[in-house]
Amino acid sequence: MNTVLVIAAHPDDEVLGCGGAIARHSHQGDAVHVLILAEGVTSRDGQRDRTQRTPELSALATAAEAAHRILGSQSLTLQDFPDNRMDSCALLDIVKPIERAIATHNPTLIYTHHSGDLNIDHRRIHEAVVTAARPLPDSGVQTLLFFEVPSSTEWQVPGASSPFVPNWFIDIAAILEQKLAALDAYASEMSPFPIRDRAKQSQPFAEPAPECRPQRPFAWVDTDFFSPSAAQSSRISTQNISTQR
Ligand SMILES: [Zn+2]
Repeated sequence: MNTVLVIAAHPDDEVLGCGGAIARHSHQGDAVHVLILAEGVTSRDGQRDRTQRTPELSALATAAEAAHRILGSQSLTLQDFPDNRMDSCALLDIVKPIERAIATHNPTLIYTHHSGDLNIDHRRIHEAVVTAARPLPDSGVQTLLFFEVPSSTEWQVPGASSPFVPNWFIDIAAILEQKLAALDAYASEMSPFPIRDRAKQSQPFAEPAPECRPQRPFAWVDTDFFSPSAAQSSRISTQNISTQR
């Protein structure tokens, strides 16, 4: 059994980015823990005012819990970093709760945002996760996988940052309906086009499976990349759910 930690910015990112992978890990008996750092919603106002948005924040938390139950993850933690204002937070203040989650759950595999995203919170969390999961001698983290979020990652302009070039693919055909049901739990957050429809599609750069089944792409980096043998062993540990090119 593997222990997996998913670290996302906003409620619904975890489903859009790797909801299929969460369901698949859960089906095969892995323990999946989800940490969502930003509150959502409050960026719709000129000034952050959680009190004014209490009903929406409560609805988002309820939706996140519903999606969590559908996907079968073991735990869900919601934090209240300011929505789309995480560039106003010290990086260390973002790193610390991630370090605590890693210490609590001791994951071997972490999913989080790709660095080249348009969204500032996504980029900030990528930076914080890579920092928190740095390869210290006592770290059990073997693999980091970076997902895209439709209608965010691909909206970054060419040349502004690292492009999302996936080299890790997870076949979610068997649990696609489960992912879509989890997306439906976020109905208040989800626009019918393009986000939900894109979530149903194979990505244009995804390697087609022999059966042409829908897949989710991931760019990945291995924290043991200085050691080919260790890197190989960590790839093997997830080989039964993934294919590489
Ligand atoms: Zn987001």
